[in-house]
Amino acid sequence: MQNDKVIYLDNNATTRVAPEVVREMEPFFSDLYGNPSSMHFFGGKVQKDLDVARERVANLLGAKPEEIIFTSCGTESDSTAILSATKINPEKKHIITTSVEHPGVLNVCKHLESSKGYKVTYLEVDSEGRINLNELKSAINEHTAIISIMWANNETGVVFPVEEAAKIAASRNVLFHTDAVQAAGKIPINLKNSKIDMLSISGHKIHAPKGIGALYVKKGTVFAPFLIGGHQEKGRRAGTENVPYIVGLGKAAELAEKNLKKENSYVKKLRDKLEKGIIETIENVRVNGGGAERLPNSLNISFEYIEGESILIFLSEKGICASSGSACTSGSLDPSHVLLSMRVPLTFAHGSIRFSLSVYNTEEDVDFVIKELPEIIKKLRVISPFSEGKPLFGADSVGHKH
Ligand SMILES: *Cc1c(COP(=O)(O)O)cnc(C)c1O
Repeated sequence: MQNDKVIYLDNNATTRVAPEVVREMEPFFSDLYGNPSSMHFFGGKVQKDLDVARERVANLLGAKPEEIIFTSCGTESDSTAILSATKINPEKKHIITTSVEHPGVLNVCKHLESSKGYKVTYLEVDSEGRINLNELKSAINEHTAIISIMWANNETGVVFPVEEAAKIAASRNVLFHTDAVQAAGKIPINLKNSKIDMLSISGHKIHAPKGIGALYVKKGTVFAPFLIGGHQEKGRRAGTENVPYIVGLGKAAELAEKNLKKENSYVKKLRDKLEKGIIETIENVRVNGGGAERLPNSLNISFEYIEGESILIFLSEKGICASSGSACTSGSLDPSHVLLSMRVPLTFAHGSIRFSLSVYNTEEDVDFVIKELPEIIKKLRVISPFSEGKPLFGADSVGHKH
């Protein structure tokens, strides 16, 4: 790294814990160590703080406090919701989701499909990353146990019409879950008159720590717990509550609710400046999901003929943290399942990176990227075996997975 400054543009992967959140949590690591289930005053004090946190999370979502269950993460919330539906309706063996979900939903569905005899409909997206609600309507049948559709996509930021989808589900008496991990805190959510039955959020995507999440379960929705044991969370999630983190999530939710409008118009301005700056200075780029409704902080952009991973390495050397949509965790160089579903041409899909901003970013951060990126792309295109005018491995190597 050439400079000391970290330019963190990977907020859809995780966020900085807000200083206010750290401060709110601190006493629960020292003086306030009571167990909220204890009979004595010392536990009772902590129970009150849990109540406050639950109320704050409920406020962010326009929900009632008793509709909030604290979990260990967004992934646990997703698993809990989908598995709950399968336990309640064991005879219904069909699930509807989308092809672009986070692994927290996608891989639960795949697991049910491969080892529990489920049939799963994966709704496809169009070239801008949008789902088609008519396809949802025709996919529902009498065996459908649950529909799970994310509120906003973590890779592209594309926002799905989940309120509409939930109405369709309700009209057919099917449970509806949404993974709102990326939507929460970035776009308004109000579950008051909503048909959404269950909704997942995660702390570390909204400036609370990693390892804390929540699941909203609408009052009256039949629910089967994931963790079975003690009576915590009204028997809906056993295990002694992670008090410091729950308090942190509560504070983060309060901040997100209070600042949502102001912060997100600030973030959107930065994102739009970044997007415009890149498009104006670099040729053969493509904004993925640019024609759809998007989260204010996300920019997924492809640079033709080069590998996203190489761009990230060069950016990282400049202190800039971004992300590639690709399945890099598996060591695979295949483009991401999200971009493949959108049928992004492979010469572009391989060269995709995601910038995701937060309120902690500044105009200088964006200016620095706009200054450094063109040189990086130029260098990589010079050495790319795929660049225009250079022979490809064969004409048909474009348009296929390798
Ligand atoms: C990060 C993320 C999750 C997982 O949340 P964890 O708390 O990391 O388990 C689920 N869904 C989406 C859309 C995410 O972005």
